[in-house]
Amino acid sequence: MSYPALRPLSGLLLALTISGTALAAEPAAHQTSNPYYVSGLATLNKALAQQPNTGKAKNVILFIGDGMGISTVTAARIFAGQQAGRDGASNSLSFEALPYLALSKTYSHDSLVTDSAPSASAMMTGVKTKNGMIGVDGSARLNDCDSLNTSKVMTLAEMAKIAGRSTGAITTTRITHATPASAYAHTPFRDWEGDENMSSQAKAEGCIDIARQLVEMPYGTTLDVAMGGGRSRFRPKDQGGARTDGRDLIKDWQNRAGPQSAYVSTANELAAIKPGQAHKILGLFAEEHMPFEADRATQGQDKPTLEAMTVAAIDALATNPKGYFLMVEGGEIDMGSHGGNAYRTLTETVEFSKAVSAALAKVNLKDTLIIVTADHSHGLVLSGYPSRNAPILGLADDSSNPARGPVKGIDGKPYSILSFATGPGGPEADKVRRDLSTVDTQDPNFTQQATIPMISAAHSGEDVAIFAGGPQAHLFHGVVEESYIFQVMRHALGL
Ligand SMILES: [Zn+2]
Repeated sequence: MSYPALRPLSGLLLALTISGTALAAEPAAHQTSNPYYVSGLATLNKALAQQPNTGKAKNVILFIGDGMGISTVTAARIFAGQQAGRDGASNSLSFEALPYLALSKTYSHDSLVTDSAPSASAMMTGVKTKNGMIGVDGSARLNDCDSLNTSKVMTLAEMAKIAGRSTGAITTTRITHATPASAYAHTPFRDWEGDENMSSQAKAEGCIDIARQLVEMPYGTTLDVAMGGGRSRFRPKDQGGARTDGRDLIKDWQNRAGPQSAYVSTANELAAIKPGQAHKILGLFAEEHMPFEADRATQGQDKPTLEAMTVAAIDALATNPKGYFLMVEGGEIDMGSHGGNAYRTLTETVEFSKAVSAALAKVNLKDTLIIVTADHSHGLVLSGYPSRNAPILGLADDSSNPARGPVKGIDGKPYSILSFATGPGGPEADKVRRDLSTVDTQDPNFTQQATIPMISAAHSGEDVAIFAGGPQAHLFHGVVEESYIFQVMRHALGL
């Protein structure tokens, strides 16, 4: 290794040395009164006053924004601010106020880019596994029932329940979808959501579908609260469901749950449960996934928001004086991005932020650890040098000369501020990029352009953020393995 020769002192430093005057470290008044400076100082004072909470956690709430990469958090905070008529760039989502932060490495046991199954499993069990698998270690083989028995690993929800706490999982997707299933299911194939989704061989070898696992978990480990979509997986075909084994799992759940429990299927039924009245809730609000918030007016009038489900879940779980574990998934952030539709990605992220906000208003961070993270990122990119107040869903202009209008690529066409690496907005084979000059990119149904054409956008593999507050939240710092999240939750709960 060679070192560069010493450079002569700069002119300024030389002049100061010659004059012999000490350099004053006092910034000018116009610097210290600058709003960025003032806000930075306030943040510093807050950080200096921050004391870690080293106590035990009575409760833990794990919020998972499915597919909520850091660029999605940034774009959503801008979107939320602009929707409220404020400056978007300096706006914050609710969970950005949590005091501790780490980066999470989300790769799975066998892939640089994870899907939700091994990712949520890493958080719930402390063990990474292969893509497509839930609640098993990396020795399991995909879609192979035989490999299940020797590869099962215990979930945090099961451990918490055995230790006397209440447990719950809620989501905007089917409750049998990969992320919520990671709280209660063990399966070598995430697609086994109902019996109709399983091969006859898997059934013959004794594996059971995810919906049945939710209802039939060994006594003492069952979830007290489970809410989301996916009703079809719980009802037989002749009752409008999808099951081929003739089982009515909703009835089975009701028989098992006993008194002080409620099965609900509409927002009104959920709202009618008074706090403390039900200790156990099964809420199935759609046959498949719940509709996007953006489609509430046409498809979602009788569906609760993620915020409403969060509040009801906390009310039910908090009836246990020993405390609880709750997983809350904003499951359709991911689905907006799979469709290449930034509008839905961002509106779902804002809904997710509202759910965190509602939880923060209900619990006490003295005894409740709140973690907000993502299971993986998506290829959403915020790019160009657009004006500070450019609409986040609009075309990129040039901040140094906004009057010139949209900036063009070397193909002579404008581009939107948000785009995707892969997805349905990619140019079809042998065709050129679509000209957006006359396209309304702020239309809620606009599909952002993508570099690589795919029917459904692929996840991406860069790190995601972990935001945390409450007991032991200070243990989230630096760059950590996703499976470490389990260790902090386990430690905080004293399990
Ligand atoms: Zn996904």
